[in-house]
Amino acid sequence: MLTKWQVPQAVTSHIAGSSATAQGQRLPIVYPGDGRIVSELCEADAHVVDMAVGAAREAFDHGPWRRMGTEERGIIMHRVAALVTAHAEELAWLECLNSGLPMARLQRIHMPRAAQNFTMFAEVASQAAGQVFTQDPRCLTMVTRHPVGVAALLSPWNAPVPLTSMKIAAAIAFGNSAVVKPSELTPLAVARLVQLIEEAGVPPGVVNLVNGRGPITGQALINHDGVDLVSFTGGTATGRAIASSAAARLVPVTMELGGKSANIIFASADLDRALDGALLGIFSNNGQQCLAGSRILVQRSIADDFIQRFLARTAALRIGDPMDPATELGPVISDAHRRHVLSFADNLGDDRLLIGGGAIDGPGFYLEPTVVLAASNASVRAQTEMFGPFATFILFDTEDEAIAIANDSRFGLAAYVWTDHLPTALRCSREIRAGVIWVNTPMMRELRAPFGGFKDSGMGREGAQDCLAFYTEPTTASFAMTQPPLQKLGGEG
Ligand code: NAD
Repeated sequence: MLTKWQVPQAVTSHIAGSSATAQGQRLPIVYPGDGRIVSELCEADAHVVDMAVGAAREAFDHGPWRRMGTEERGIIMHRVAALVTAHAEELAWLECLNSGLPMARLQRIHMPRAAQNFTMFAEVASQAAGQVFTQDPRCLTMVTRHPVGVAALLSPWNAPVPLTSMKIAAAIAFGNSAVVKPSELTPLAVARLVQLIEEAGVPPGVVNLVNGRGPITGQALINHDGVDLVSFTGGTATGRAIASSAAARLVPVTMELGGKSANIIFASADLDRALDGALLGIFSNNGQQCLAGSRILVQRSIADDFIQRFLARTAALRIGDPMDPATELGPVISDAHRRHVLSFADNLGDDRLLIGGGAIDGPGFYLEPTVVLAASNASVRAQTEMFGPFATFILFDTEDEAIAIANDSRFGLAAYVWTDHLPTALRCSREIRAGVIWVNTPMMRELRAPFGGFKDSGMGREGAQDCLAFYTEPTTASFAMTQPPLQKLGGEG
């Protein structure tokens, strides 16, 4: 393992520009590639969370960030992007060290995406215009938008830097302050990112960091009276609990939650590309993606051949140390998660195991990429988000049936459609109830467009205009342009 970059002995919270004094419980930070403890986390308790929210509030109420012009804020946001790019290798390495995500992917996709988050939101904020209305010509009504206040930003472990940086960039671009709570399993690169954000010139207190487990640190944060907004990405059950406690305080939330996305392969597709796309859809990011195309729906007329080719490529996946640039599939996040994913390879009932289904011996949390042919979409393997390298095939005959199966899910995050028949593609994009639909492409993450899910996949969207609406509040101010007559209450008739 490379040791060119410094790993902090302990990851602490970062409040108003300084590390918070180490207190609270110590939790191990583990390299999923070999199971070794590489650092430890000092858990923020309610007192530390209170200090972090207090610092964010102070920065919001009395600091310069909220009052800065968009030009000046934009220059600093672009500097953050430049620093992320300059430190991309270090960030990728730290991220790999606690997530086990393949280095190659972290360098090629995750870190450039993190830098883009800052440049993109700087541009969006700089273009955000108000409105003027003249319903009554004697008055001019002006709508201006203002930052909301202190945002609590909670993120998961499966793509820590891209997801957390999206939330930070969106919140601060419009002048808010933030308290960030990454997953307790993956705090390393996010902690470094927060340092870089301040190095770039974002004033201390604008971005604060608290680390710790969800029920301790996370809950203290979302229940804190000083929090004005909550942006959450994670599991559906957690999201539901957070949304209900935020509702009690009338705090707005966005929820980016789980998925069980259909990847529909029609006989009319370019099947070589569809095969590449289906493999990427389920095995990239070590299979741990909310967007994973984990239900692969194949038209029966091409199914035998397609599935055989899929299995041959699955067997040839380069599984190994995520630090190795050649690795395509690394370990999952923890041994507990590996056991959870593999539990779906037991008690198969009428489903058929086609490949995999076991753990890979040795240190680290590796498992065989697993493929099952489900007897129907009612199978637990077709309905549950497993969040690992585990693909479930389902067969269909007609377009109507494919759409019905795609929609027969409590989730509605994404759908993939592979076909060269335009009416089929258009119909699927209209009929499938999902927030994001990819036609003949495995994953085009257009950052400006709304991103989020229907049904149990979430509430609200991330994206340029959606974040503008979420992270700002409008003020409507009306000005008399002439001296319109006023009724004189209590005056002489
Ligand atoms: P999780 O819900 O367990 O945790 C997410 C975050 O919430 C973590 O920081 C965690 O510490 C915190 N948390 C947990 N319980 C909490 C509580 N009671 N109060 C406050 N905070 C709490 O999710 P995870 O296991 O880290 O991530 C995997 C899940 O995230 C999957 O379901 C995946 O689909 C989802 N996800 C969704 C998207 C999306 O954009 N829709 C993206 C990535 C991951």
